[in-house]
Amino acid sequence: MVVKQDCIFCKIVSGQLPSVRIYEDDNVLAFMDVNPVSFGHTLLIPKSHYDKLADCPSDILAAVSLVLGRLAGAVSRAVAADGYNVLCNNGRAAGQLVDHVHFHIIPRMTGDGVFNSWPSFSYEDGIAEQLAEKICAEL
Ligand code: AMP
Ligand code: ZN
Repeated sequence: MVVKQDCIFCKIVSGQLPSVRIYEDDNVLAFMDVNPVSFGHTLLIPKSHYDKLADCPSDILAAVSLVLGRLAGAVSRAVAADGYNVLCNNGRAAGQLVDHVHFHIIPRMTGDGVFNSWPSFSYEDGIAEQLAEKICAEL
């Protein structure tokens, strides 16, 4: 398992830092977010340290996926949420503060005002296709 000495989530995995644990198996740990966006805000992490989603080996991501949907359902039902967001911030530009890959499960209530705006725009003709080609080339 990859451990990074100064990582707070690695310290939570090892028990050096406290957390309110919900679920764990050999590969993943779920615990309550200490500064929640909403009641029930939960984090799911691989136990092994990877900075970002794209750094995670596929078997680790598969282990995360095995739990993510079930956990999201449990969190949502536990707080009688009307919906939930699953978020994985990657990089400072995207709001990632803890450099150990993690998935937020954020319960939502109708009209709660959380993430109220989703800025979006339309592509000029041909731009989506150009971008798709570039992305394919990077796969
Ligand atoms: P992000 O901005 O995506 O990196 O989110 C990091 C999340 O980790 C935030 O929602 C923090 O509230 C949460 N967090 C930071 N330290 C702890 C901790 N010791 N226990 C539980 N959650 C934490
Ligand atoms: Zn870590």
